[in-house]
Amino acid sequence: MTENIQMVDLQSQYQRLKEQIDDAIFSTINSSKFIKGPNNSSLQTELAEYLNVKKVVNCANGTDALQLALMALDLKTGDEVIVPAFTYVATAEVIGLLGLTPVLVDVDYHSFNTTADIIEEAISEKTKLIVPVHLFGQCSDMEPIMKLATQHNLFVVEDTAQAIATTYTFADGRKVKAGCMGNIGTTSFFPSKNLGCYGDGGALFSDDETLAEKLRMIANHGQSVQYVHDAIGINSRLDDIQAAILRVKLQELDDFNIRRNKVADFYDSALKDIDKVIIPHRQYNSTHVFHQYTIKVKDGLRDDLKLFLQQKGIPSMIYYPKPLHHQKAYASISKIGSDLTISEKLCDEVLSLPIHTEMNDSQLEYIIENINIFFNGK
Ligand SMILES: *Cc1c(COP(=O)(O)O)cnc(C)c1O
Repeated sequence: MTENIQMVDLQSQYQRLKEQIDDAIFSTINSSKFIKGPNNSSLQTELAEYLNVKKVVNCANGTDALQLALMALDLKTGDEVIVPAFTYVATAEVIGLLGLTPVLVDVDYHSFNTTADIIEEAISEKTKLIVPVHLFGQCSDMEPIMKLATQHNLFVVEDTAQAIATTYTFADGRKVKAGCMGNIGTTSFFPSKNLGCYGDGGALFSDDETLAEKLRMIANHGQSVQYVHDAIGINSRLDDIQAAILRVKLQELDDFNIRRNKVADFYDSALKDIDKVIIPHRQYNSTHVFHQYTIKVKDGLRDDLKLFLQQKGIPSMIYYPKPLHHQKAYASISKIGSDLTISEKLCDEVLSLPIHTEMNDSQLEYIIENINIFFNGK
């Protein structure tokens, strides 16, 4: 019973990679190039190569990445930005901070992501930008979304905080990594993300080199030449110790995602026959990196299951308990772009189970055994 199960086990992962990580940290301290050091530029190059995108711009966190993306697109007060109601708050927060109007749209029940059909309903004269979120590790259906954006002359910023390395396949067979299809992709290196550092971090991706230069300028106090400020910017940097750690972990990223997929496969086969549980839907045109393994629990049993698991020492999380239109801060500044019943339903049904790169079979068996006891009494 002493399985010590955690949602994310960063300690065990560190122990496994300790030698390389310690090396990376201490060689950065030895060089004492803490800000804008060589690891930052190397990480940008290596990540751009990995993602097959022209430019990567590092910044301080995933929320800043979203803010920088919105600032670089020169949106004006009152411009509308379409964003799912079922997402982490950061996505809508920066929209509100910049005086733009979040237009909240529903998501698909199976994929947890919004779709072109839903977005289309919400497009108005004022719409300038769509922010699809690749929730839980699977890509939004980007081909129709990009088509819609082209038709209506809209920008697309992909929130890739939960889906770095996920691959989307277009109808013609072309494969593109999440975050590299819209004008800008943003990600977070928060420790628990699939590619996480040991503090805060974030990055932006773009195939538009002019736009990438602008992002770099805005992230650096709006200066392209030192002490020349052509625009009001912010100060958003990734420190070089974090960049050094991320360079080590980028080498492991494919392996991390294989490990997560093994856990997901295990859960899938063990839970697929429980009729009150809906296992995560696998989209035919996207891989899944399982940032979260999120089930839906029917008949209002979600909270009871969560409590039962907790009593057995098994953590689980509700991502997310409230849609954005039910959050006080967003209810007043947002516009409702579509019917939002699926988002509301999901908030009542979703439960994310422990998933990380270090899970072992006995932990998984223990979790499954207890889920079975909850539903079947055995
Ligand atoms: C984590 C996350 C963010 C924010 O990243 P931070 O680095 O914590 O600022 C934004 N969007 C989504 C979907 C996230 O999961």
